[in-house]
Amino acid sequence: MDISGDTQAPPPETLDPQDWAAMRALAHRMVDDALDSVATLRERPAWQPVPPEVEARLRVPAPWEPQGAQAAYADYLSDVQPYPMGNVHPRFWGWYMGNGTVLGALAEFLAATMNPNVGGGNHVASLVESQVIDWIKELLDFPTDASGLLVSGASMANFVALAVARNVNAGFDVRELGMAAAPQPLVVYASTEVHSCMQKAAEALGLGRVGLHKVAVSEDYTLDVAALERAIRDDRAAGRRPIAVVGNAGTINTGAIDDLNALADLCARENLWFHVDGAIGAVAVLSDAVRPLLRGIERADSVALDLHKWLHMPFEAGCVVVRSEPAHRGTFTLTPEYLVHEKRGLAAGAVWFSDYGLQLSRQFRALKVWMSIKEHGLKRFGRMMTRNVEQAHYFASLVDADPLLERMAPVGLDIVCFRFHPGGVDGSALDALNREILMELHEQGIAVPSYTTLHRRYCLRIAIANHRSVQDDFDVLAREVVRIGQELAARTPASAPAEETA
Ligand SMILES: *Cc1c(COP(=O)(O)O)cnc(C)c1O
Repeated sequence: MDISGDTQAPPPETLDPQDWAAMRALAHRMVDDALDSVATLRERPAWQPVPPEVEARLRVPAPWEPQGAQAAYADYLSDVQPYPMGNVHPRFWGWYMGNGTVLGALAEFLAATMNPNVGGGNHVASLVESQVIDWIKELLDFPTDASGLLVSGASMANFVALAVARNVNAGFDVRELGMAAAPQPLVVYASTEVHSCMQKAAEALGLGRVGLHKVAVSEDYTLDVAALERAIRDDRAAGRRPIAVVGNAGTINTGAIDDLNALADLCARENLWFHVDGAIGAVAVLSDAVRPLLRGIERADSVALDLHKWLHMPFEAGCVVVRSEPAHRGTFTLTPEYLVHEKRGLAAGAVWFSDYGLQLSRQFRALKVWMSIKEHGLKRFGRMMTRNVEQAHYFASLVDADPLLERMAPVGLDIVCFRFHPGGVDGSALDALNREILMELHEQGIAVPSYTTLHRRYCLRIAIANHRSVQDDFDVLAREVVRIGQELAARTPASAPAEETA
């Protein structure tokens, strides 16, 4: 008991800074350091592994006592910040990613300081998200009464769209009865080039792997529409129930764009839901070079798109738009007594985004999109995409001109598939050689392509969703692939028997 007469109690414990001035100084330093790291990206390797001693420091017991913000930030500077994935770098072209932007990153901070829950309620974050979705509908030429939702990325966007398609076209009340009540197996169609997330969605939605019927592609990797018509006819004859067709607006392997108008016609004729996976390509309606190839996307019943790929929002940011708002809402809305939407007060609000997807608590993703689009204007994003397409054709021309390099597919959007091919090496030995070239490119920090397999041949693959790449970066890649390839080929005795693929 305090009998000294000194009644000055210590301030109550909270998670706020105890010293606001010190935290402010630290925050300013963090911004300076972060901007420095972005401004000097080119001086660093495109990728480097986390050293073993750093890995060891990232495997320590949980801290039960405070270290303080300064110490936590010092750990970040030494053990985290130096080892990014690399997609911020001008010579990162792996898989399909974006770079992010500085204002986008700052907007993430602002969103977190406001820290709203955008599941529902009458607050400004919902209005900002509605605004961003309206802009996306505008650029896709979708009707103003369509609905939409910002999600983690295209995997979730595709899932949401497929759930709506299933519930609308299943022919029975899936929400009430569950898939066990299906009188016939349901089938969704997409090309063999469709992204793996569609299969995950089909599995999770109870259609099973057999519920995603993969249809053959033509030489240019676009869906063979005649083969699709036959597949639908055969499935119907066999007692299955076709419900939806997924068109690709930019495949992950080669950037191929299906004939969206032909698919829209077919879906209208066959009474099927027309969904477009536009993870890569949908935002490219902003590019004069790409827009004509996307004709028909405006006729889709739903579109999934990624904003963290070619629009360069910091991860995560994807979007789904659905032409029929009642169908979208009808698939996900569920309002228990503790979430009743009121007419006034904070529990009001025109749109509760939790009615349109699986998440109740949702982050304020829209702010970075809203601010970035204001910062740059949509036309600049379009010009960046057009430049990437031109860079893809430039790199393809370097490949085509070099007798030691071989192009493996038509250039699709901003994607080039190629390999080192010195002659005299074939089959699995050539695959292994190219795989080793890829490892060296990564480990020497030169550049980050990724890889795929086309017609059972291993390829190097670049996807140029990069607003920082310049022409010289592609000269470097072509030169270094040949240099490393020749060094590796020289190391392998020519007499070594090449193991052939079966
Ligand atoms: C990346 C991608 C996806 C998955 O998107 P995420 O944002 O990674 O969830 C789906 N489809 C295509 C064509 C993609 O390129």
